[in-house]
Amino acid sequence: MSVLRVALEVPLATLFDYLQPPPDALPAPAQPGDRVVVPFGRRERVGIVMECVLASSIPHERLKPIVRVLEDAPRLPPDWLELMRFLASYYQRPLGETVAGSLPSRLRSVKTLPRRKPRAPSAGEDTSRARFVSSNEPNPAQADAVKRIGAALGGFKPFLLHGVTGSGKTEVYLHLVARVLERGGQALVMVPEIGLTPQLEARFRHAFPRENIAILHSALQAGARTHAWLDAARGDAGIVLGTRLAALTPLPRLGLVVVDEEHDTSFKQQEGLRYSGRDAAVFRAKVAGCPVVLGSATPALETWHNCRAGRYERIDLPERAVPGAMLPRVRLVDLRTDPAAHGFAGASVAAIRGRLARGEQSLVFINRRGYSPVLACEACGWAAGCERCTANLVLHAVGKRLRCHHCGWEERIPRACPTCGNPDLRPVGRGTQRVQETLADLFPEARIARIDRDSARRRGELQQALEGIRRGEADLLVGTQLLAKGHDFPGLTLVCVLGADQSLFSTDYRAAERLFATLAQVAGRCGRRGQEGEVLVQTKFPQHPLFGALVRHDYSSFAEAQLADREGAGFPPFVHEAALRAEAKQLEVSMDFLREVAASVSPPGDVRIYDPVPHVITRRAGYERAQLLVQSRSRPALQSLLASWSERLFAGAPRNVRWHLDVDPIEFD
Ligand code: ADP
Ligand code: ZN
Ligand code: ZN
Repeated sequence: MSVLRVALEVPLATLFDYLQPPPDALPAPAQPGDRVVVPFGRRERVGIVMECVLASSIPHERLKPIVRVLEDAPRLPPDWLELMRFLASYYQRPLGETVAGSLPSRLRSVKTLPRRKPRAPSAGEDTSRARFVSSNEPNPAQADAVKRIGAALGGFKPFLLHGVTGSGKTEVYLHLVARVLERGGQALVMVPEIGLTPQLEARFRHAFPRENIAILHSALQAGARTHAWLDAARGDAGIVLGTRLAALTPLPRLGLVVVDEEHDTSFKQQEGLRYSGRDAAVFRAKVAGCPVVLGSATPALETWHNCRAGRYERIDLPERAVPGAMLPRVRLVDLRTDPAAHGFAGASVAAIRGRLARGEQSLVFINRRGYSPVLACEACGWAAGCERCTANLVLHAVGKRLRCHHCGWEERIPRACPTCGNPDLRPVGRGTQRVQETLADLFPEARIARIDRDSARRRGELQQALEGIRRGEADLLVGTQLLAKGHDFPGLTLVCVLGADQSLFSTDYRAAERLFATLAQVAGRCGRRGQEGEVLVQTKFPQHPLFGALVRHDYSSFAEAQLADREGAGFPPFVHEAALRAEAKQLEVSMDFLREVAASVSPPGDVRIYDPVPHVITRRAGYERAQLLVQSRSRPALQSLLASWSERLFAGAPRNVRWHLDVDPIEFD
């Protein structure tokens, strides 16, 4: 077999054919999975040999031989090549782009990697320590989970570990990882965001003091990422801990996959290869023949549905693990009878005051950063909008500026209304900065920490701030989602939720699922150490069933009700979905493009193509955006339509339109 089919990083959906060089030119012939240097145009490029075939459709005399094989990193294994083929075809992206995007940048360059010195054990390193240091004896529910999942090691089996916040899911992962390491396997542990990694990393390092743990996420420097990747790919690292991209690492001895907070939307990449890290993880486990554990207090409805259908096995951890710790009491504060002043109902203010008096921490959650979402003129109704987007500018107190959260545009606050000249422009609504200001007025003696993407622009800053909170250096915390996820604040006993009503009546059918998950997460931050925790949710709709389920900590009845709604309305997971999106300088160009694509292929039976519609935020950064949805009960039928669309579009889409396909989309704004 003399023709090598090579994936190259070019925006074309094809592989490129090259010849094996003459036998004496290379130590051994190139094989699938080899990184090779090939001539391409007038340059040399790095590609990956995807397969070796007997013949090419290109005349033999026009084929060029590869230049050399790069041997500075291990050959990419067959299961990894299979993963790449799966991702490229499932998410409709060129194989070359998929492969290149999955490799650290240094492995995409023709330069050979610098050789690394083998790590010598440092002086004083205690090699006598145990391989696994368990900090807690598992309770019966945890022991049962470890036993059931442990019994499945060695074969593919998906599990949902449905454990309430603080139920000791991480502890279960640690015990399972210990088993896998004992068997000589590697464990892949995925988490949603880098903000979560330091605490989790510390727990893993403490539990496995002698293990090589590779950390992988996109904020790493190129060198560090390459090292971690190589440790994983060579099988040197027994544990690979990372964000969604960790799912794309070669793991020769893969024995267990864990996806923590599996419902989290950040597992879905929102650009280029729009893959779901969770779904990629399940695929990996299947190919490797090992169990995959999806852990969450509020699983994705897709996952819940898979359990009901018997495809995944569900294991429950219904109680908190720390002896004496209970789930917090959730109370709804009825804003109709206890109206808010400056955002806070009387009950909320009183509760915070009580905690301050006892020296306990309170968290005020509002999922909106900035000072206020709108700056408006009450005289004429004008509101400060972004010229490049269909969106209002957000008022930021720092520097007194207006900022667009969609395109990054910034400007100074106008002195007067540009329409009527009224000098009295007012902020409408509130974000974290304004809430912080109100709290400072109400409780001048309290130390207040604000955590959002503006206060913690860099990774280090966020970690420092979180550490400070854990040490008790703040009495009141104000924050967004960033503060809700995964953190463990020992002194926190009260959570106040503001602005929850905003997503109750959204047109996005996923909004309720997300709201419930967010509220359960943020509620789960308090009372983790035995003191009773309390959660106050301010709302004008206390009878809403979502809040009822939240008060009862009853995810499963919430999920059942949601699934019934989805089934009735014909939404995922009862149908499969994809979106074709377009953006252009004029909306009509985007709409026409979508109409033409929709009409270009007659859909296979059971595939439904909806009419194109403009995005809610139609204009973003100067582009007018529209999308159309496709649904089908049959995954193969949907895939075949998408494949014929993408084939046409990659072959030649109009130049004035930017387009992409999003398979299993979760964001529609
Ligand atoms: P989750 O991942 O479900 O939020 P964690 O594994 O982080 O839960 O556990 C929550 C808290 O409970 C941690 O402080 C952990 O040390 C503690 N914990 C976990 N398992 C046990 C146990 N079996 N006994 C005592 N404490 C435990
Ligand atoms: Zn005006
Ligand atoms: Zn904008």
